[in-house]
Amino acid sequence: MKLTFAPHTLYFKRPFKIAHGVRTSTPIVITQLQHDGMIGYGEASMPPYLGETHETVLFFLNKASIILSKFKSPYDMDSILNEIDKIETGNTAAKASVDIALHDLIGKLQNKPCWKIFNYDKNKTPYTTYTLGIDEPEIIKQKVAEGNEYKIIKVKLNGENDKATIETIRTITDKPIAVDVNQGWTDKHHALEMIEWLSDKNVLFVEQALPKNNLDDAAWLFERSPLPLYADESIQRLWDINNVKECFHGINIKLMKCTGMYEAHKMIEEARKHNLKILIGCMSETSCAISAAAQLTPLVDYADLDGALLIKNNLFDGITFIDGKITLNELPGIGAIQNY
Ligand code: MG
Repeated sequence: MKLTFAPHTLYFKRPFKIAHGVRTSTPIVITQLQHDGMIGYGEASMPPYLGETHETVLFFLNKASIILSKFKSPYDMDSILNEIDKIETGNTAAKASVDIALHDLIGKLQNKPCWKIFNYDKNKTPYTTYTLGIDEPEIIKQKVAEGNEYKIIKVKLNGENDKATIETIRTITDKPIAVDVNQGWTDKHHALEMIEWLSDKNVLFVEQALPKNNLDDAAWLFERSPLPLYADESIQRLWDINNVKECFHGINIKLMKCTGMYEAHKMIEEARKHNLKILIGCMSETSCAISAAAQLTPLVDYADLDGALLIKNNLFDGITFIDGKITLNELPGIGAIQNY
């Protein structure tokens, strides 16, 4: 198999404010994995908090291409992805770009969408949440109106104007809200007080209320919280489930954190053993990585896959949302086509 790859930059439609600051763009790398006249596409997206860059991903993929050139068949997925994982620790987005390309390639060779290969019921996909960054009330109102067709609002809070933000949304809609704090509440008592305040405001769950390594306080909050708590930054890979299973009600799985679809499957299976709920999320990504993640959504409770809606230069056409519901298509592989 032959791996080729190229760096790109995604630009946001609007500057995106979260707890860590303001962002206007995200570096990505698009991979192509060739075998038997077919090309599978993959993507690495590198938000700053994961620590990967164009340089680190290209460096990693140069090593990965040597390994992939030694494999004559893409079907030996266990061995291929184990070898890729062993190249170096970390590099989870780079690894995901190989994993996604491999899944896309296999689907194309079999002329079947991944969800069909996995034997999933495409009607069981959830609605995607529609994300609002941290903004002034007027912009929040404008964004809520723009996301009118989406059934669930996801709002980022950071400990500053949190109540005002929720109240602003509630002046215009009663839609369910998923709250993402991105580690923005540093005090457990404040977190509990906020969650109690949110609990009668049609909030579905609260994601990553506390700093990621503060699992003692997460466990304290878990015992008292009237709303379900989801881990995001506190969990990256399969083995992290063991650390968070007693301090959260659910986990946010993202392909860029967990090295791709192969490990995401294992995480879903493991999480269910511990009665954890599952949210599948994304970074700022094109419809390539979004469509790949969407293939798994018949298995999850919630999905936050609006990443491609927020960027100006989506380099792929892929899965769609019909009235906000994730709608898998019949295209082979991950269900996305390059448009540049
Ligand atoms: Mg999050």
